[in-house]
Amino acid sequence: MSFNIPDGVYPSLYVHVPFCLKRCPYCAFYKRLWDPTLEKSYLDALEKEVLSIQENSSSFNIKSLFIGGGTPNSLTLPSFSRMLKILSVFKGRFEVLEKTVEMNPEAVTPAYLRCLETYGYTRVSLGIQSFDKNELKLLGRIHNVKTIYKAVEIVKDSKLLSWNMDFMFGFPDSDWNGVRKSLDKAMEVDPPHISLYALTIEKGTLFEKHGIQPVVQENDYRQYQNICRYLKAKGYLHYEVSAFAKPGHECSHNKNYWTYGDFIGVGPSADSYLNGCHSKNTSNFSQYVKQPTPSIFKGKLISDSQKKSEFILSNLRLISGFLLSTYRQRFGSDVLKDFEKEIEELIGNRWLRLYKGRLQTTKKGLVMLNEVLIRFV
Ligand code: SF4
Repeated sequence: MSFNIPDGVYPSLYVHVPFCLKRCPYCAFYKRLWDPTLEKSYLDALEKEVLSIQENSSSFNIKSLFIGGGTPNSLTLPSFSRMLKILSVFKGRFEVLEKTVEMNPEAVTPAYLRCLETYGYTRVSLGIQSFDKNELKLLGRIHNVKTIYKAVEIVKDSKLLSWNMDFMFGFPDSDWNGVRKSLDKAMEVDPPHISLYALTIEKGTLFEKHGIQPVVQENDYRQYQNICRYLKAKGYLHYEVSAFAKPGHECSHNKNYWTYGDFIGVGPSADSYLNGCHSKNTSNFSQYVKQPTPSIFKGKLISDSQKKSEFILSNLRLISGFLLSTYRQRFGSDVLKDFEKEIEELIGNRWLRLYKGRLQTTKKGLVMLNEVLIRFV
């Protein structure tokens, strides 16, 4: 089995680490509890998968690398280091400008950061979520506010260029005053990038089982709009519906998803989109460690209309939207004709707008983004 990547296509690489030290009651991501034996079999399988991609592909460049999960730093330090070594097989074939690892605050230590520096990593994404001790307790997180400050200090003392803070809102019975207090504390640690998440109740989670309700929708919208205004006043560029960056700190790995670029996912349950094909690695851990065949070898070609739809769904998340000419170059047709009825209606509702040759979601549309995007499915 082999695959070719055309000249000029630079996919991103995503690596899924399927372990956590504890299962948070709201989380629906693919993960299992960390275990030393499983950790070893995971790394053996990851090594086989990565080598298989390398051996069966023509030479190609990778745009960015992102290790997520799960909790990558739930791996012991020797295993964490082994994982970075496995992934460094790509080194020398190209220069990867942005390499990010997700980390949870409770397991951030100077030794993990030194390891990241050794392998040329540039960025960490900290799963902070909140600076309110009751909200952290509700989320079932291991860390507390003190742990956050300590983790941030360690990251800031490292040679890494940037870091992200995950921040959640929309907690049951929350109001803007509470969110603001949490944000005020967040500003003290001066994160260069913030990823914002509304608490949602996912199927199969303990929150769903226990009937936990997020804040009512109207309040949720208000909190979102207030957070956007607050962060703008603090000098953040709002560049995607849920992403905010200080100048020069936008996440290029995520921008590749939002501009509908190609990406390769490795590790159990990881998705890929390459050469117009979708594929997904098995979500069955035992199956993955037994046979870690990269799913990109058997990707499913999608239709042109699906590609157009996915392009719009991704790009309308960006505040800048997309150039009509980019769509034309990519698909050989006019988006205003392909989706005439939908776009007219959404512009009429003031949820979309045409501005300087671009189609963009308006501020009003961002709040209702799911309603906007569903028109293009
Ligand atoms: S640490 Fe992150 S991935 Fe793990 S269970 Fe909690 S929210 Fe989910």
